[in-house]
Amino acid sequence: MSEATRSGGCQCGAVRFRIRGELGRPSICHCRMCQKQFGNFFSALVTAPEDGVEWTRGEPTYFQSSVNIDRGFCKNCGTPLTYRHPGGLEIAIGAFDERDDLAPQIQVNHAYRLPWVETIFEKPVYQDPDFYSRQEQIISFQHPDHDTDVWPAEGLKI
Ligand SMILES: [Zn+2]
Ligand SMILES: [Zn+2]
Repeated sequence: MSEATRSGGCQCGAVRFRIRGELGRPSICHCRMCQKQFGNFFSALVTAPEDGVEWTRGEPTYFQSSVNIDRGFCKNCGTPLTYRHPGGLEIAIGAFDERDDLAPQIQVNHAYRLPWVETIFEKPVYQDPDFYSRQEQIISFQHPDHDTDVWPAEGLKI
């Protein structure tokens, strides 16, 4: 993993982070709590270095999901952001501005996976050829994949 500074945040931009130091092993977890936190088939997380995480705008809100574990999210837009357990802090891979080098290296709680999860990428692919040109025409309220001095941008209501 790179030792360069990494940044990221939630969809609305109310919570932004910066991480200094080496990231740990990226993983996915199939447990039911991770499914619920992410509203998805599994979680995708990478371990953050001890004391390397700085919240540069806002902070997550935490739900304590069990005695020793809490899970952070943006209370404004709902983006899952953290999973904190006695062994450390993990950050949601999808929240990073740069994610291409964060391929999961291990599956956790594999026995609890959804019975069809291994087949999802065998399904037919539909790609709207005009998707990105139409995206440019809509007014997006999503925070961009880089730090911003002011957000929401002037005149943008979120
Ligand atoms: Zn947010
Ligand atoms: Zn889990």
